[in-house]
Amino acid sequence: MAFELAKRIKTLPPYLFAELDRRKQEKLEEGVDVIDLGVGDPDLPTPQPIIEALKTASENPENHRYPSYTGMRAFREAVARWYEGRFGVELDPDREVIALIGSKEGIAHFPFAFVEEGDVVLCPDPAYPVYSIGTKFAGGEPYFMPLREENDFLPDLGKIPDDVAQKAKILWINYPNNPTSADATEEFFRDLVRWAKKWNVIIASDNAYSEIYTGKKKPISILQIEGAKDVAIEFHSLSKTYNMTGWRIGMAVGNEELIKALGKVKTNVDSGQFNAVQYAGITALNMPEEELDKLREIYRERREAMQGALEKIGLDPYKSDTTFYIWTRVPEGYTSQEFVGRLIDEAGIVCTPGNGFGEAGEGYFRISLTVPTDRLLEAVKRIESLRL
Ligand SMILES: *Cc1c(COP(=O)(O)O)cnc(C)c1O
Repeated sequence: MAFELAKRIKTLPPYLFAELDRRKQEKLEEGVDVIDLGVGDPDLPTPQPIIEALKTASENPENHRYPSYTGMRAFREAVARWYEGRFGVELDPDREVIALIGSKEGIAHFPFAFVEEGDVVLCPDPAYPVYSIGTKFAGGEPYFMPLREENDFLPDLGKIPDDVAQKAKILWINYPNNPTSADATEEFFRDLVRWAKKWNVIIASDNAYSEIYTGKKKPISILQIEGAKDVAIEFHSLSKTYNMTGWRIGMAVGNEELIKALGKVKTNVDSGQFNAVQYAGITALNMPEEELDKLREIYRERREAMQGALEKIGLDPYKSDTTFYIWTRVPEGYTSQEFVGRLIDEAGIVCTPGNGFGEAGEGYFRISLTVPTDRLLEAVKRIESLRL
C-alpha cells in the first residue's frame, strides 16, 4: 500500500534536529554522560497540593463524564480571579475565558476560526513553531517578522508592508519570549494595539512564561493595555508556572468574540479537559506566590551560573531575567548547527540550534535551564573548560 500524504503534512518544514539527535545517540552509545539542555520542559515536580487535588477529584464519579466544552465554571472563575490578582485585568468568566487542553491546543486551533485560504498571519521568527504551522493547517500564509537583537527581539511593526497588513488576519506575539528570552515593553504593546486597530488585525498573545521571571519587574499581560480587549486574545498555560507540562491544562482569555469563535472550533474537535485536571488547575491558580518565588530562585541561580560560564569562554549571552532560556550568539565562523554539534562532540551537551526556530534564529543557540541544578553545574564546568 502506498498512501499519499496530504500537502499540508508533506510541506511541513524539515525536521532540523535529526542530525543532532543522531550525534546525541552516538555519544550515548559511546557511554558519554550526555546533558540535555535542549528541551523546554521543567525538571521540577508539580507541587504536591495540585497532585492531591487531582487524586480527590478523580475519585468523584461526577467527574468521569464528559466535561463542558468551555471548561468548568469554577475553573474559568479561578482564571478570572488569577488574572485580576496578577495583572489587574478584569475578565468575565462566562464570556472572556475558555479552558484549553494545554495552550498549544488553543494556539493550533485558533487560526481555523478566522483564517481563509490565502489570508496572511504575521508570525515572529525565531518562534515556537505552532504559530506558523497552525496558520498553514488552516490554509493561511505565514509572513515572518524577524526578531533582531538590536531591537531587543521585538518585531519592527514599521517594516510590515501595507499590502501585507491589509491581508493579515492575526498577528502572533510571545513575551516573555521563547526562544530569545526577551520581554516586551509596555510601550511596544501600546504601539501594537494601535497598529492592530488601524489594520483590523487580531492580536494573539502567547503569555506562557509570564511567571518565569527573576528580576524585580514582572512581565505584563497585553490585556493591561487600554483598548487591548477590543483586538486581543491571550493564550496562557499552567505548564511552565506550576511544572505541569504533562497535565495539559491552559486557557485563552480576552475579547469575547475571539473566545467564542475559538470555542466554536473546539466544540467540533475536542470535548474539553478532564474535570479532575481542571480541579487540580484551580488548586494551582490559588497557590500562594511564595511557592512560585522558590521556583524563580532556582532559575535565578541556574541562570547566573550558566551565564557566567558562557561569558568565561568569550560568549555574550543576551541579558534577560525572564523565561528559563539563555539565547546566545555562536562564535564567529560557525553556523548554529556547527556550534551545537561541537558542544555535543566536545562537551556532551545538547543545546538547540537557533535556526530550528526560524531563519532569523541562525547564528544563535538556546540553552534550557530545565535540568536539576547539580547537572546544570556539571554542564557549566564542561563549558568553562571548552577551548573555542
Ligand atoms: C511551553 C510553551 C507553551 C505552553 O504549551 P502548553 O501546551 O500549555 O504546555 C506555549 N507557548 C510557548 C512559546 C511555549 O514555549
